[in-house]
Amino acid sequence: MSIFQSLEKASFDPANYDMIVVGAGYAGAVVARRMAEEADWRVAILESRNHIAGNAFDKEDDAGILIHLYGPHIYHTTNKRVNDFLSRFTQWTNYQHRVLGDVNGELMPVPFNHASLKLAFGEERGEALYNKLVDTFGENVKVPLMDLRATDDPDFEEVADYVYKNIFLYYTQKQWGKKPDEIDPAITARVPIFIGNDDRYFPGATWQGMPAQGYTKLFESLLDHELIDVFLNTDARDVLAIQDDKVEVSGKPFAGTVVYTGPLDELFNCDLGELPYRSLDMQFETLPINQFQPVGTVNYPTSEDFTRITEFKNMTGQVKEGVTTIMREYPMAYVRGENMTPYYAILEPQNKALYEKYAARVAQVPNFYPRGRLAEYRYYDMDAVCDSALQLADELLEKNKKA
Ligand code: FAD
Ligand code: UDP
Repeated sequence: MSIFQSLEKASFDPANYDMIVVGAGYAGAVVARRMAEEADWRVAILESRNHIAGNAFDKEDDAGILIHLYGPHIYHTTNKRVNDFLSRFTQWTNYQHRVLGDVNGELMPVPFNHASLKLAFGEERGEALYNKLVDTFGENVKVPLMDLRATDDPDFEEVADYVYKNIFLYYTQKQWGKKPDEIDPAITARVPIFIGNDDRYFPGATWQGMPAQGYTKLFESLLDHELIDVFLNTDARDVLAIQDDKVEVSGKPFAGTVVYTGPLDELFNCDLGELPYRSLDMQFETLPINQFQPVGTVNYPTSEDFTRITEFKNMTGQVKEGVTTIMREYPMAYVRGENMTPYYAILEPQNKALYEKYAARVAQVPNFYPRGRLAEYRYYDMDAVCDSALQLADELLEKNKKA
């Protein structure tokens, strides 16, 4: 891999490449690697930031603590193919993510589980409610809050009401500016009620952990191929445009393949309207202490303007005496041109419909493939993006064989 700090200095010539990839996050890097490795394609990755790894990027801060610049990233998956693929490029720690919710000053496990039930309702009543939940739903199962709310059993309604008010309502209002029942139910279902004792945030994940040397190192290894060039500080829109059913690069039609992982509306100057996103202001603080909080993340579902505090040493396992770095996440609406990051697509019907209009446009372009959390306007975790990129590579390899 060669990494260039800009396009100009590197005298970029699209004719030297079989594929141009926009974005050096999971979506772009995974396709790039497979096509370089399995089809001998020469690949140029254009990345507008000054680093690789997309939102998974991590680096040491001034205090020497490994931090995640774009929010806490915990690897978790049930997808063997994804796990096998990524495990070629890193070893994993055995970190198991645990989250506590600060509910009116009392810390309880999130997702809400057996222990949370007893903390919320007292030992005796909590146990009775738990037994009833087990009898109805079974043990070690996840029940989405909205499903529990829909039952007409008064005991379950009481549990659902408690969880709704104390875990979901204010947190969701901060995160999305809306109530839990006003957003896509799939979002709150990411954090179900867990009927069991497992207090991990991702109880069903077959594989979870942290890349042993961090995410940026994982990406360095993933992109370490002689046929891959990465051009940093390069906004692809300065050189790449769609004209009807053709892609133009540096003013000339590009016949190779283009994989685009940025926001789809931005490619067209948002001429059909802007796709809305939520953003976050991440406030980092370094403290002269060993440890700030007992787990990787503490959520604040009943108080504060931020949603959660992450302490990186608790997740990465980094050992460093007398210093730690924490980060608070303050949600906000994403405003274009204000130096914000579009972190979360807002999955409402009118937004999805607008997305489909942009998607229909690029569907006319046979050599152009939108992929990833931004370009597909999806709420994708890392493993799902990786899976989507592996599938695209399958498709491209198949086409390449026939060509
Ligand atoms: P990105 O990582 O966003 O990469 C896209 C890249 O394209 C970016 O680097 C961007 O700079 C670049 N780009 C965009 N437009 C252009 C352009 N015009 N020109 C050039 N480059 C461009 N997932 C998990 O599995 N576990 C977690 O714990 C987890 N935590 C998260 C926490 C937060 C706060 C957020 C927001 C996400 C989290 N995720 C987590 C999701 C994870 O970040 C994504 O699934 C993954 O990073 C998406 O990869 P991607 O390649 O699709 O997009
Ligand atoms: N959520 C909540 N309270 C919590 C945790 C999550 O209300 O303590 C809701 C909230 O709407 C959030 C969603 O569940 O946006 C998904 O949470 P998750 O932790 O998966 O969000 P992410 O890590 O992707 O930001």
